Amino acid sequence: MSIVTIHLPEVKSKEESRPRHCPKCSGETFQRWGGEERSVRDPHIKQVRVYRYRCCRCHYVFRYYPQGIDQAQQTQRLRVLAAVAWALGLSYRGISGLFAAFGVTISRMAAWRDVQQRAQQLRSQWKGKKVRVIGVDGAYVLGWGKKQPVLVVIDLGTGQPITVGYVDEKGPRAVKSFLEPLVQQLGISVMVTDDLSSFKQVADKLQLEHQICQFHVRRWVGRALHELEHSLAEEWIWIVSEIRQVIDDLPIEGDKRLVALYRQLPPSRMGRLGAEYTPVEQLRSVIIRLAENWARFRVFDWQPDVPWTNNPTEQGIGKMKMRARTVRGYKTWPGMFSGLMVAGSGVV
Ligand SMILES: [Zn+2]
Repeated sequence: MSIVTIHLPEVKSKEESRPRHCPKCSGETFQRWGGEERSVRDPHIKQVRVYRYRCCRCHYVFRYYPQGIDQAQQTQRLRVLAAVAWALGLSYRGISGLFAAFGVTISRMAAWRDVQQRAQQLRSQWKGKKVRVIGVDGAYVLGWGKKQPVLVVIDLGTGQPITVGYVDEKGPRAVKSFLEPLVQQLGISVMVTDDLSSFKQVADKLQLEHQICQFHVRRWVGRALHELEHSLAEEWIWIVSEIRQVIDDLPIEGDKRLVALYRQLPPSRMGRLGAEYTPVEQLRSVIIRLAENWARFRVFDWQPDVPWTNNPTEQGIGKMKMRARTVRGYKTWPGMFSGLMVAGSGVV
């Protein structure tokens, strides 16, 4: 468990500075136009002073809020605190009770709104930002009666979720149309995923460098080779050890080594109708699958900041799923989106 830091917005009871720009025109001079005491909900501050100003140019009158204060009754700090408490596992009722113990009254409904709003904030904080490397992975989360497919996009620089879509990872078209605007908006150039075929198609169509998580590759290759060791004829076992070595070393020209191994095998007898997949055919298909994807195994070796596994994305999904279990099923997609974003971003 890493050290937890919570960044809460600062709240001031009074704003010392004056407005710089008129919200309506580019005016820069103002007259104070009265003010009012406002009561707010916050652990420390109960009352704030909000001044009104009148633009000398267009005569527009507006409220100039102290830091951490806006139209809402809860301060920004309290709203973030409610969302953090929810991410840590409290129910809306629990948040309401916890805050009451500190003398702050908020309803369950208000706590619910805080979580929804936090999710929108987390999503919109990426506007205008650049993200070079993303991790993408699918998950299934319980909502409105059954497991629903979601697609999670993580910034691999910070480990923070960028967004979550109601998209099935197995459909290349849906995945592409979901990712395409993000890729353009954020200037993404590398995508890290597991080795599902839809991700390969999408990476190619969007012209992204594609790193396939080596943890996944080692897992399925390990399993496949382990089975083959028991079923293959003695004379081919050395090829299994060679493949293991190539995967361990991940050399630049590993695909050529794999093709050379492939050529050692007897000619294919595939194509016969009803033919069983013999152990040699299985070995052959493992080699082809590895050789074909070789370039996608090694992006981390020459691209800076590209991890060789998709672990940060899986950690994000882990946090989302852990929280989803205590929710016991989201009722709507907007609710699920908010829950996953807030839970996935954890305590930041
Ligand atoms: Zn103005």
